[in-house]
Amino acid sequence: MYEQIKLSYATDALEPYIDKVTVETHHGKHHATYTTNFNDLAQKAGVADKSAEEVLANLDKISDETLRKGIRNQGGGYYNHNLYFEMFSPNAVKAPTGKLAAAIDKKFGSLDACKEELSKLAAAQFGSGWAFLSTDKAGNLTASNSLNQDNPLSEGKGLIPILALDVWEHAYYLKYKNLRPDYIKAFWEILDWGKVSARYDEVVK
Ligand code: MN
Repeated sequence: MYEQIKLSYATDALEPYIDKVTVETHHGKHHATYTTNFNDLAQKAGVADKSAEEVLANLDKISDETLRKGIRNQGGGYYNHNLYFEMFSPNAVKAPTGKLAAAIDKKFGSLDACKEELSKLAAAQFGSGWAFLSTDKAGNLTASNSLNQDNPLSEGKGLIPILALDVWEHAYYLKYKNLRPDYIKAFWEILDWGKVSARYDEVVK
C-alpha cells in the first residue's frame, strides 16, 4: 500500500505564499487521486510489493503498455507530490546545510545560482510539468524539468530527486492565475532547505 504523506503543517500554514484552498485541493483531491490510482494500477501490474522508487526506476519492465503509461502518470503523480508537500514548512530553513551546501556550491557556484537555474527550468517547462533537483548516489547534483508527472528516477541515469517544484496550473492558478513566475518566487519562501539537506544526506551515504 502506497501511503500519501500527511501534511506536517496546517492547510493555511503556507499563506500567503500558497493559499489554503490550493493546499486543500492539491493535497486533498489531486494527490489523493494519484495515490488511489497508483495503488490500483500497481496491483494490476503485479508490482505493488516494490517501493514506488523501484517501480518508477523500472517502468520498462512493465510489459502491458496501458499499465506502463498509467503507472508512469499516476505513480509519478503519487511520488512527486509526496516529495513536494514534504519539503514545505511555514518556518522554512532558508539555506542548505552540511554536505548539500557544499554540493550546491560545487555544481552551481552558489545557492542563488541554483535557485535561479531551477526557477528558469520551472518557468520554461511548456504546459504541465515539474522542475527537480536530483542527486546520484555519489552526491552529484542535476537540475532538470519534465513533462506531466515524469520523474528523474525513470531516466535510467541513477538520479534520485531531492526537491520537486510543481508547475501544473492546479498548483498555483487559484491565487496566481497566469503568473507562474510569481508562484515560483513564492515557492522559495516556504521550501525548507533543512528538509532537503536531510534527504540529500539520506540518499548520499
Ligand atoms: Mn500537482
